[in-house]
Amino acid sequence: MPASRSRPSRGGDRFPALDNCSRHTNGPRFDTREASPNNREGGTTTDLKRLLDLQRVDSSIDRLTQRKADLPEQRILDEIVTELEQARAEHDARKSELDAVARDQSRLEGEVNMVDEKIKHESNRLYGGDITSPKELASIQAELDALRRRKNHLEDQDLEVMERREAIEKDMSGLTERLTELEQRSAEATAARDASAVEIESELTENTKARDSIVPDIPEDLLEIYEDLRPKKGGVAAAALQGGVCRGCGVSLSPVALDEIKRGEAGELIRCENCRRILVRV
Ligand SMILES: [Zn+2]
Repeated sequence: MPASRSRPSRGGDRFPALDNCSRHTNGPRFDTREASPNNREGGTTTDLKRLLDLQRVDSSIDRLTQRKADLPEQRILDEIVTELEQARAEHDARKSELDAVARDQSRLEGEVNMVDEKIKHESNRLYGGDITSPKELASIQAELDALRRRKNHLEDQDLEVMERREAIEKDMSGLTERLTELEQRSAEATAARDASAVEIESELTENTKARDSIVPDIPEDLLEIYEDLRPKKGGVAAAALQGGVCRGCGVSLSPVALDEIKRGEAGELIRCENCRRILVRV
């Protein structure tokens, strides 16, 4: 025998159904049209009020669970993290470009130094006085001219590379500022998310405690109807009956149904004729 059955039964027979819905969904135990009036007594109004308390708590738990699963603070954080990842990727790409440009620059500077060495060497030969052959001197002069053109070309290239490097460094400086800002925002959003999660957990704990204290007050059979109905009714199985209107679906009960309810016992199990929710007179 399941544990839920072993507790002292407070009896489903205390909830005679006014409609025929419970007969279909809950079996013959609740087809209590022939129940004796005595079976209709015994504090069921309180039981039903407690059921409405349970519904309020369960709705809170559902809302909190939903919020926990889809935290707005988490969505904000996710957006920031996405931006942060993009900025980091962009920063890394720019850093690679900068490294490549720095290598180009260093190669060019190395080449310029080499050309300078050659120019120095050829100039020494040209003006050293050791070479007197006009043909050879003309050849050295031509070599020097070629080396100077080469040097100018390398220096032009170096200038371009330096300009590129400055542009990249400027971009990187902007990206670094952006990364700092995004990291700050990410830390704040994480803190907000965590605070929200802690708050929800604490509210969930409170509501679960409240639920645990309400459940023993509700007869097992009534609880079964409620639990069975809840998933089928968007989480709302019990609704207040207020001014002849079911607060579960917002539909007014027919005068016939209302009359039947009025003539019934105070704690009688009544169901909305429209949405079939358990109605609790308030
Ligand atoms: Zn209804």
